Amino acid sequence: MRVRILASGSGGNLSLYESDGFVILVDAGVDPGGLASRLRSVGAEYTRPDALVVTHGHADHCAHAREYAESAGIPTYMTDSTAKVVKPNSARHVFRYTAREPFAIGPFEIRPCAVAHDVPQVALRIESDGCAAVIATDLGEVPPELHGLLVGAQLAMIESNHDLHMLEVGPYPRFLKRRVGGPRGHLSNIQCAALLRALPASVETAVLMHLSEKNNRPEIALECAAEALSDRPTTLLAAKQYDKLVFDLKPRARDEVASASEPDPAKVDAIARALAAPSGRAKSAPLPGQLALKLGG
Ligand SMILES: [Zn+2]
Ligand SMILES: [Zn+2]
Repeated sequence: MRVRILASGSGGNLSLYESDGFVILVDAGVDPGGLASRLRSVGAEYTRPDALVVTHGHADHCAHAREYAESAGIPTYMTDSTAKVVKPNSARHVFRYTAREPFAIGPFEIRPCAVAHDVPQVALRIESDGCAAVIATDLGEVPPELHGLLVGAQLAMIESNHDLHMLEVGPYPRFLKRRVGGPRGHLSNIQCAALLRALPASVETAVLMHLSEKNNRPEIALECAAEALSDRPTTLLAAKQYDKLVFDLKPRARDEVASASEPDPAKVDAIARALAAPSGRAKSAPLPGQLALKLGG
C-alpha cells in the first residue's frame, strides 16, 4: 500500500491511499484541479482518486467535497453530521458512514473511531493487503480506542498541532486559544508525544500532522516527539502544510503481527500527566539539527 500526504494543516488537508490500482482520497481541503496538478508534479500514475472519505465538517477538510462528488462524480463518503455542512445537492455519488462501523471501499477496509473535536470527527484506520495506516488529526484528547486502532499499523499520522507556550503567548484571541487547547480542540505537541510513547511496536513510521503555522514550529514538534520515541527505531517526520510525502508500506510477517500487543491506556495517561508537568517541553531532547530520520537505530 502506498500513502501520500499532499497537504496537512489549517490551510487544507489531503492524503491518498493506493492499493491494487485503487486510490482513496481522505479529506477534500484542496479542489480536484489542485489535486490533479499536485499528483502530476509528484509523477503519480493517476490524477483522480476512485473515492473520497471526508473526516469532518471543517472547511480545511470538507471545503471541496461537493465538487469531488458532483462535478467530478467521485464516490464521496461522509457522516450525517458532515453532510449537514457539505450540503450535497444530490445523493448521487454520496455515501454515508458512521463513526461506529467499519466499511469497505474497493480493496480497502476502513475503521473509523470517534474523537473529541468541536464538530463530530473521526480518526481512520485504512487497511489493505496486510498493510494499515492510521490518520488522527483534529482531536482535543486521545480516546482509549485510538490505541486499539493503531495496533498492527505500520504508519501513524498523528496531530501535533501546537506548542503550549506558543499558543499561550501567540496572536490568537483568548476564546480561540481556549478552543484550540481545550478537550474538543487540537492535540498539543505534548499530547502527541504521550501517544507516540505508547505506540504499538508495529508502527515503523510516525508523521506529525496538522501543525499550526502560528502556534508551532516543525523543529519544536519534532524535538518533543523525538524524545518520546528515543528508545525505539521509529522513523519520525513532520508534515508541513504543502509537503509532498510518500510512504510505501509492506505487509508484516505473520509472527510479527501475532506479537503486536495493545498498549496499556493507564501507561498512556501516566505519561501524558508527566509530560504536562510545568515546563511543558522535553528537557533532554536532541537538538533539532541532530534529528536523524531513523531514531534510536
Ligand atoms: Zn483541520
Ligand atoms: Zn477540525
